[in-house]
Amino acid sequence: MEFIVFDLEWNQPEGADEEVRHAIPFEIIEIGAVKLDKELNLIGKFSQMIRPQVYKEINWRIRKMLNLQPGELEKGRPFTEVAEEFLTWCGSDPVFCTWGGQDLTELQRNLAYFDMPPLAEKPFEYVDVQKLYARKMGEKRQFSLESAVDEMGIEKDVAFHRAFSDAYYTGMILKALPEDIRRTSAAYDLYRLPGSREEEIYLRSEDSYTFYSQGYDDRNDIINDARITTIWCPRCGGPSTKGRFSGDMSFATGGRSLKRRIKWFGHMGRTMHAAGICPEHGPVISALKIRTAGNGKYFAEKTTSCASREEYDKLTEQKQKSDAK
Ligand SMILES: [Zn+2]
Repeated sequence: MEFIVFDLEWNQPEGADEEVRHAIPFEIIEIGAVKLDKELNLIGKFSQMIRPQVYKEINWRIRKMLNLQPGELEKGRPFTEVAEEFLTWCGSDPVFCTWGGQDLTELQRNLAYFDMPPLAEKPFEYVDVQKLYARKMGEKRQFSLESAVDEMGIEKDVAFHRAFSDAYYTGMILKALPEDIRRTSAAYDLYRLPGSREEEIYLRSEDSYTFYSQGYDDRNDIINDARITTIWCPRCGGPSTKGRFSGDMSFATGGRSLKRRIKWFGHMGRTMHAAGICPEHGPVISALKIRTAGNGKYFAEKTTSCASREEYDKLTEQKQKSDAK
């Protein structure tokens, strides 16, 4: 197993037709990556330019940000060639690591657009270094890579905003993060939704779990599915197994299901909430988002967490306001 920390640069269309834009909203023009061993030592580098074939005119902002030299992109090779070389370089058992989740999505969209085999047939675990870093900082917002590099005191020896350098810095941050943070949260790439109930994902930490459902054709089927609307106490939850990198992953819903004292409320298009009280562990709040997958299906992302009495009371108030409307 090796960690593949990668970063992409892409071009955005100007005036392309709607259908093409939908299929490939961003065309990849550069792939940069570092390969790290289990101890996170740097053991390989990858950097290649890609000559665009869909959006040949490079957006001026992107040209400026990347500091592209005249003729540099024209020397690039076609996406299919570079992507194949990259995926071979990644080896048979890569754990992908990125700054945020978008690079994995765009890589898969580009693979699909150019009729290449998918990265995987179902959701897979990856390491979102941006998310881990936010966890270290104790905040939920998205930090910029450069601010993280500064804060962690990593030497800025290569320029930012090129695929290789950004991948390199992301790798350095991953390595510099405390081990307990690195183990806390797995991220899942959901470009392909779970194809069945068996493939559904339960990501568990000590006092919360996040569930990703399979796809549904109709949003109403999600909120009418008791399996999804039931709240389980995260601490009373069933058996769990160790993930290969990130701690507990699978979570059987064999734990204690709670009576919903605050019934589901909120907009289906945003986040819905419900809450119960575990006799042993106190208030438990569940947040449900109905998201749309790349294939147009709907799926549930539900995070259930142990909460404080204040949080529970605040939610009670919100519920009362919502009922009064
Ligand atoms: Zn409990």
